Amino acid sequence: MHVLILGGTTEARALAEALHPEVRVTSSLAGRVARPRLPVGEVRIGGFGGADGLADWLRAHHVDAVIDATHPFARTMSFNAARAAATAHVPLLALRRPGWVPVEGDRWHSVASLEEAADALSGLGAERVFLTTGRMGLAAFADCPQWFLVRSVDAPAPPMPARTEVLLDRGPFTLAGERALLSRHRVDTLVTKDSGGAATAPKLHAAREAGIPVVIVRRPPVPEGVPVAATPEEAAAWVRERDRPAAPSGRQRPHPGVE
Ligand code: NAP
Repeated sequence: MHVLILGGTTEARALAEALHPEVRVTSSLAGRVARPRLPVGEVRIGGFGGADGLADWLRAHHVDAVIDATHPFARTMSFNAARAAATAHVPLLALRRPGWVPVEGDRWHSVASLEEAADALSGLGAERVFLTTGRMGLAAFADCPQWFLVRSVDAPAPPMPARTEVLLDRGPFTLAGERALLSRHRVDTLVTKDSGGAATAPKLHAAREAGIPVVIVRRPPVPEGVPVAATPEEAAAWVRERDRPAAPSGRQRPHPGVE
């Protein structure tokens, strides 16, 4: 069996680890990060050339199942995966870590896009903003008058806000570290995507403690009809289910952990 994992996330690497070498795994990375953390198994890097390119790739490499384990905000890739899998008649599963849930004391302002997040800042009285939405979306904040602390894995390129300090770093982050960062830079507002996961959650805890408002960008939907697993373990079970000889009736049982 040959499985293609569309990756770029911690969960994608964990899934490759769970399946390799029992199953032939190829992980695909977009090639955005200069020094990516590489998963076990085979790795390919770079775009496929849209949904049609991906469908061709699936056929040419005899792929039996695709797991879309991209970041919850990698919307184009997820839609391309849905179209390509349908075209090539290959089963597709989306692996999506659950989103974050507010708890008592949180001051969250939910918005639909980075542009809405930028618009919300003035109304919140923001002056010093900690921006953790990644270097690719900085253009949405380019006209904002506030001061920004931008944290990203690789250095961002313009357009970006005029008053920006860049901090190159990648998670996981600690609560103590996030507390110190908010205090050192006198941050009064945090902007984040609802990425979910433990590695970058401590900033939310630190913001709650400091009484700082959080502008949180909602996730785009998973393409219609694509089943979703919440953990690498659930996704691995879905793959193993497909690796078994077909049941005598020819019907496959849905995996209980998968929606
Ligand atoms: P995107 O906007 O959904 O995709 C843009 C294009 O990049 C796709 O059409 C595809 O090119 C290529 N691409 C994306 N993911 C790919 C993959 N895993 N393998 C091969 N090609 C891929 O994607 P994005 O938001 O820029 O994210 C790019 C990568 O960074 C993803 O792998 C994602 O998991 C990771 N990431 C994204 C975020 C985020 O906030 N968006 C955060 C952390 C990590 P073609 O059309 O040519 O195939």
